[in-house]
Amino acid sequence: MDTEQYEGLPHYLSLGAGVQSSTLALMYSLGELQPMPKAAIFADTQAEPKSVYDWLNWLEGQLRFPVHRVSKGSLKDEVLKMRVTKDGRKYSKTDIPIYTLNEKTGSEGAVPNRSCTRDYKIKPINQFLRNAVPIKRGEKRPQCVSVIGISLDEIRRMKPSRDAWVLCRWPLIEKRITRIACIEWMAKKGYPKPPRSACVFCPYHSNKEWRRLQTEEPEEFLAAVEFERQLQEAKRKSENFVHKPFLHNSRKPLDTIDFRSDVERGQQLLWQDECEGMCGV
Ligand code: SF4
Repeated sequence: MDTEQYEGLPHYLSLGAGVQSSTLALMYSLGELQPMPKAAIFADTQAEPKSVYDWLNWLEGQLRFPVHRVSKGSLKDEVLKMRVTKDGRKYSKTDIPIYTLNEKTGSEGAVPNRSCTRDYKIKPINQFLRNAVPIKRGEKRPQCVSVIGISLDEIRRMKPSRDAWVLCRWPLIEKRITRIACIEWMAKKGYPKPPRSACVFCPYHSNKEWRRLQTEEPEEFLAAVEFERQLQEAKRKSENFVHKPFLHNSRKPLDTIDFRSDVERGQQLLWQDECEGMCGV
């Protein structure tokens, strides 16, 4: 990997506050990786479980560089807000990935393309960088580096920046470090185990994560159950959306699912294909 391209450019860490980006933050802070980031940026969807916010507060106190929290507002409110076009059709401006069921025909579908990561993570972080660096309008040359916590086992999530003025860098891949190795490094240093970061209602959760939420953070799980009900209600009012949305690929209501026995059909693969490394790290 050509690392010369990053030389001399200020580095900023995209901090998801999950396992990989937290490991990176601590590695930089201990001087095990260089150069030290100017700052870490946490893009807050206002929908992470409490465990992630608690972890972020703890992590901030460990770091030798500042953590900036940026937010476009509540992702949940935006997804549930139905807007109306001039010709009367209803739509939502930002969507999350969903599984769908046509209740008349029984046909199943999925809408993996979604704008939540772009609108609530990538854009707020890029806006922060534009002001912090700062970036001139129309700038075509790289002016800074966005450090992203994708680990070696999730290499297919690597995607170059869409903006010429910022380069993406993936130090865990440069150092061939996996997610498991991150957890082992944290344990060896005596740090607590970080949570998995993602919105409580994210349909990319594995069964293991749904089960963890249900047993360890039951209030957050109930919030996801309620969100699914509200999403179905909101989409039902939208005449141009005939498929009922679900958050789990069994297409059953969340609170009726036995996450130990219900089969997972590729949630993680969807995540790897669709997420640009801003969620779940
Ligand atoms: S965690 Fe899931 S729902 Fe939240 S922004 Fe990322 S992909 Fe969207």
